[in-house]
Amino acid sequence: MELRLQKFLAMAGIASRRACEKLILEGRVQVNGKIVRELGIKVDSALDEVRVDGKICRLNNKPLYILMNKPKGVLTTAKDPFGRPTVIDLLKGIKERVFPVGRLDKDTEGLLIITNDGELSYRLTHPKHEIEKTYIAKIAGTPHESDINRLRRGIVLEDGKTAPAKVRILKTGRDFAVLEIIIHEGRKRQVRRMCEAIGHPVISLRRTRIGKLTLRGLAPGCWRYMTEAEIKYLK
Ligand code: URA
Repeated sequence: MELRLQKFLAMAGIASRRACEKLILEGRVQVNGKIVRELGIKVDSALDEVRVDGKICRLNNKPLYILMNKPKGVLTTAKDPFGRPTVIDLLKGIKERVFPVGRLDKDTEGLLIITNDGELSYRLTHPKHEIEKTYIAKIAGTPHESDINRLRRGIVLEDGKTAPAKVRILKTGRDFAVLEIIIHEGRKRQVRRMCEAIGHPVISLRRTRIGKLTLRGLAPGCWRYMTEAEIKYLK
């Protein structure tokens, strides 16, 4: 089967298609012993030998789909150069190479999809198709309805205006409030930056839903395989 190199790598479960493009541009991918830095080239899955960081990649990976309740203090990268704990370290007993779909900050907890299906990851994180994600944010101070409306309409951050969001106040205390924020974008530290922009920084943040997938039954640090119905829903 002939495939574009980045698609081959994504299908082999190396990472999402976008992350695979980055690996190619960084010169970490070899085809038949030669480093390839172009994105367009095609490889034959039966004939060509493809390596990433020297390790051979094959297409016959069993697809794995995992839901995790990421605890605070754990990184969403696959490997940390400083040896800090990552979500992959929490997956005891899984030998296949898997990777998280999108990111949660080190101090954010909640629902995370982990897979070796690079095509699914590409679709889920592509700005065009981004699925709704629900966050519960405890913020400092008590915001005015006008601040909440700014979040709802979209707010200008340094990387541009955010898309409209669904925002509800769930609780207010003397010096804090709890918001439910539903967004479909996935920019870096987006919810934290949105709340900072209205002058109410995040105290704690938890992602409770991705589309209709929820944290139900998963304590922080725990994970499970997705059901067939959940996989079908995402695809
Ligand atoms: N928004 C954030 O600010 N942090 C996350 O981890 C996820 C969304």
